[in-house]
Amino acid sequence: MILCMMGGEIPSPPVPWTSPFGSSTVKQPGKLDDLMGKGLSSVQERINRLRAGFVDQLPERIAQARGSVETLKRRPDDPGAREELHRFFHGIKGTGRSFGLKELGVVAAQGEAWVTRHDAGEDAMSPEAWLEQLEEYLNLLSSMAGEIGNTQRQTLPPALECQCPVAGESDEDGLERRGRVVYVCDDDKLMLDQLSMQLRCFGFKAVTFVDTRSLRNAVMNHPPDAVIMDIMFPSGHDAGTEAVFALQQEIGREIPTIFLSSRTDFSARLDAVRAGGDAYFLKPARTLELVSSLDELTTPRQTDPFRILVVDDEPEIGAYHALILEGAGMVTRCLHDPGRILEELREFRSDLVLMDMYMPACNGRDLARLIRQIPDYVGLPIVFLSGETDRKKQDSAMRIGAEGFLTKPVQPADLITAVAVRAERMRTLRSLMTRDSLTGLFNHTTTSQLLDNAIASAQRTDATLCFSMIDIDHFKLVNDTHGHPMGDQVIMALSRVLQQRLRNSDVVGRYGGEEFAVILQDVSLERAARLIDDLRLDFGKLVFQSAQGSFSCTFSAGVASLTQHSCLETLREAADRALYLAKHHGRNRVEVD
Ligand code: GH3
Ligand code: MG
Ligand code: MG
Repeated sequence: MILCMMGGEIPSPPVPWTSPFGSSTVKQPGKLDDLMGKGLSSVQERINRLRAGFVDQLPERIAQARGSVETLKRRPDDPGAREELHRFFHGIKGTGRSFGLKELGVVAAQGEAWVTRHDAGEDAMSPEAWLEQLEEYLNLLSSMAGEIGNTQRQTLPPALECQCPVAGESDEDGLERRGRVVYVCDDDKLMLDQLSMQLRCFGFKAVTFVDTRSLRNAVMNHPPDAVIMDIMFPSGHDAGTEAVFALQQEIGREIPTIFLSSRTDFSARLDAVRAGGDAYFLKPARTLELVSSLDELTTPRQTDPFRILVVDDEPEIGAYHALILEGAGMVTRCLHDPGRILEELREFRSDLVLMDMYMPACNGRDLARLIRQIPDYVGLPIVFLSGETDRKKQDSAMRIGAEGFLTKPVQPADLITAVAVRAERMRTLRSLMTRDSLTGLFNHTTTSQLLDNAIASAQRTDATLCFSMIDIDHFKLVNDTHGHPMGDQVIMALSRVLQQRLRNSDVVGRYGGEEFAVILQDVSLERAARLIDDLRLDFGKLVFQSAQGSFSCTFSAGVASLTQHSCLETLREAADRALYLAKHHGRNRVEVD
């Protein structure tokens, strides 16, 4: 069972305190819990247990802090005692806020600021007055802790956390999962447990460390795919950044690193950047943002070279330009006969066409017009490369919709730049056209095209292929109850689960609003259904938090196999039929056709 806080905004749980000594307000679970939240009470129990552990420790921690104050009374300049106090307030602030204990966090933050200000020597007050105020804060925290202790478990607001039984471990299918290893290092054990559980929900293999030394040893033995590092440790305010810097030096390469910190100031951020940090998140970090960042850092960038089609009736000059571009890492194909342009465009899938103006049989101007009249190539950049220096003729060629006009002889550097800039733009445009903007998954059109290609390829190689349609249950109710932005979060969470848990060779698309499509290659119908069912179980374990309460969602899915339905339309209809059946049979289930 897992509980995830996702989302744009840190939820503002009802403030449990009207005054430091007032009574707590009680958060009612949302209505959807009854409809969809399976076993939510058990999730709530687990959060309550974690929070109860924190609250139970409070009196002891406060007593220790009082000990530090006593030390300072005897030795006002004792650096150890000051540091202890700072760490105490800092820790209570972060964990308190994460557990929804807003007022406790506020008082702890004030205590922390008080210690720091005096540390920095900004106050001209007597040490006695300073210590007195510190004791005030401790007294306040102590009263709050007592109150919370009395009313906690059933009445506290929901915390920002996520628990799950090591998701992704039961890989009995032997399917390749995208389980990337992330080392998480934080001296706050509770925060550490929550964060690692959140990450596991999204398919990461999170390994936790409470100190920088054990992290170092692990990194030396088994370098991870990424590190998430707290900045402040008992050993120093910037021990996290120092440790990462030393580690990168020691292993001689950069490990993708995300720093977590409660500091918002410039110098903390600068230290993190200088230590090699790739991202900086304020605590408590938002799950989806952290996961996005991890994805970005751990997925090798698509560095597909640009593909350039060079059309020139003179083989030598065409080859020469192609060579220049290949020298810059691009892939080229030369075409000397314009009559073959359609086949080449189809087969080579170029990002740009570099075209000569004057060719026998068909000049560049006509050829460019011909290309522009085909809907698929409306956006394909065409750059003329010609000896034509007459501006009027150049302008007339450009009006057809060419992206540029270069004059022969062209400087190699100019050719490379002109081509690369336009090809890059084509890539971006193509991505916008093929991907869904909310989830980054393939859009409906592209998914259909990919399904078409996958079917052709499976039939050629006699391979199996399954197609699944997935639809979130009662999604309208999610929007109506928790708002459209929260609905978007649910869509993004499902897209993450699908992306993280499926193999690279599987295609995941957003088919419509809350409908997804998955193409599974080389699997039998039974295995595909089992896999989708695993995803269903995983997704159903996520618990979302909104201002209206916590809730979970489920999905229904239909799966069909190419073995039984041998063309695009019948396969799609079969998956759709199975999905309808799943809805009809009560939702939150997978059916096959
Ligand atoms: P069922 O279990 O039968 O699938 O019920 P349902 O409520 O999920 O299905 P229905 O088709 O009635 O409603 C789907 C809703 O999804 C309606 C639409 O407003 C909403 N929706 C579609 N696209 C988006 C989106 O991008 N974001 C959000 N938040 N909602 C969306
Ligand atoms: Mg639906
Ligand atoms: Mg629907």
